[in-house]
Amino acid sequence: MQVTRRQFFKVCAVGIGTSSVAALGFSTDALADVRPYKLAASSETRNTCPYCSVSCGLIMHSLGDKAKNAEPSIFHIEGDPDHPVNRGTLCPKGAGLVDFIHSPNRLKHPEYRAPGSKEWQRISWDKAFTRIARLMKEDRDKNFIAKNSAGATVNRWLTTGFLAASASSNESGYITHKVVRSTGILAFDNQARV
Ligand code: SF4
Repeated sequence: MQVTRRQFFKVCAVGIGTSSVAALGFSTDALADVRPYKLAASSETRNTCPYCSVSCGLIMHSLGDKAKNAEPSIFHIEGDPDHPVNRGTLCPKGAGLVDFIHSPNRLKHPEYRAPGSKEWQRISWDKAFTRIARLMKEDRDKNFIAKNSAGATVNRWLTTGFLAASASSNESGYITHKVVRSTGILAFDNQARV
């Protein structure tokens, strides 16, 4: 669009307003248009911040209509206003979680480093779980203490520990506690202690 010097001063003389902007050739429709709300078409998923023991509740917003071939992508995260811990607030670390999710350094698969090796190799979840279960069984069979020196039943397994994550719900935390204690493990903690 060309605006001559004469046209410009003529418009300025009557004052800048919608009609004068239109006189310059701009569309008034564009001025009246409201920018669409960026979360209007997003899908919401609730989760828990993985960073610290406060365990703030999150709402994660993603794009993707859940069609078979659509790849969903999280583009915005905010505090969950209904969560009893944080009531919608997040500290700066939690507020930056989108960067953590999309970080190229984020670990997404189990990895294994053989004894003496400097290299990590990616393994399947099946292989990881099988290996963990086998090593736990071997250690428990070797070190389980059924009775103490006084002959009292103690059923302790002191050579293995277990750490649960803060992203566990109350229900999964309860079940995890029951399973771990049933093996005799005493060294058991939860990152969030919830
Ligand atoms: S948002 Fe901050 S305070 Fe809350 S759990 Fe995450 S790191 Fe902790």
